[in-house]
Amino acid sequence: MITRLAADLAWVAGHWDDLAGLATPGTRRPYRAPMLTADQREERDQAAWLERLERTPDAIGASPAPVPAGVLDLLVDMLADAAALADDVALEIHCPTLPPPSSGFASAWPYLDFSARHLADAEQAADTWRGTIRGMVERTARALGLIYDGQRLTAVCPWCRGVTADHPEGGQATWVVRNLLSRQTCGHGAADRRWCPECPTLIAVVCDGGSCEPPSKDVGTWIRGRPAWPWTEWEWLADRLDRAAV
Ligand SMILES: [Zn+2]
Repeated sequence: MITRLAADLAWVAGHWDDLAGLATPGTRRPYRAPMLTADQREERDQAAWLERLERTPDAIGASPAPVPAGVLDLLVDMLADAAALADDVALEIHCPTLPPPSSGFASAWPYLDFSARHLADAEQAADTWRGTIRGMVERTARALGLIYDGQRLTAVCPWCRGVTADHPEGGQATWVVRNLLSRQTCGHGAADRRWCPECPTLIAVVCDGGSCEPPSKDVGTWIRGRPAWPWTEWEWLADRLDRAAV
């Protein structure tokens, strides 16, 4: 669990310059578009499709394209969270705290990097920071239009209508993005396989409602009893959502 949280922090730290780049007027997103590798391009395509999946009248709290407008608020908030977290980590491991940020627009990287490196020594307290860290990953991914393992989509599944054990009335967001290979071991020295650039990915949307049983013509992949749609089927999935919304 600790390694995963530390890897999450390292991932956010690694994307900080991209986030800060969003605040530069005239910056086109994605910030590194000219340097995209084939893999990253594939990730972008997946992200574009994800946006389409979520942009249906069926979606709960669907929002149009992610941020730019609020990017300064995002940077200031993330810096505050990162600095507070680094302070907490330092106190927990009896280590001097880092100097406070020089302004609201300072880089959060030193704080994120510090926490990522020392999280393992603060194991007892780490669980209380899980929400903060998860929030930073989600905000970073959303702002940059990235998709990530564990991302919950706002769409309502047209087959089970979002029915879960806790919500028999339905309407829940039961679709989660999963990297189906993420449980395999990384042989490239990455702390967490999800963020390893060398490891292959197999991204799918999985309906985790628990009672979802689309007919076999609508789903060809089942993961531990849950229907799954690999990203190559997302165009079809988006069309299916559109039709369900009519
Ligand atoms: Zn479903």
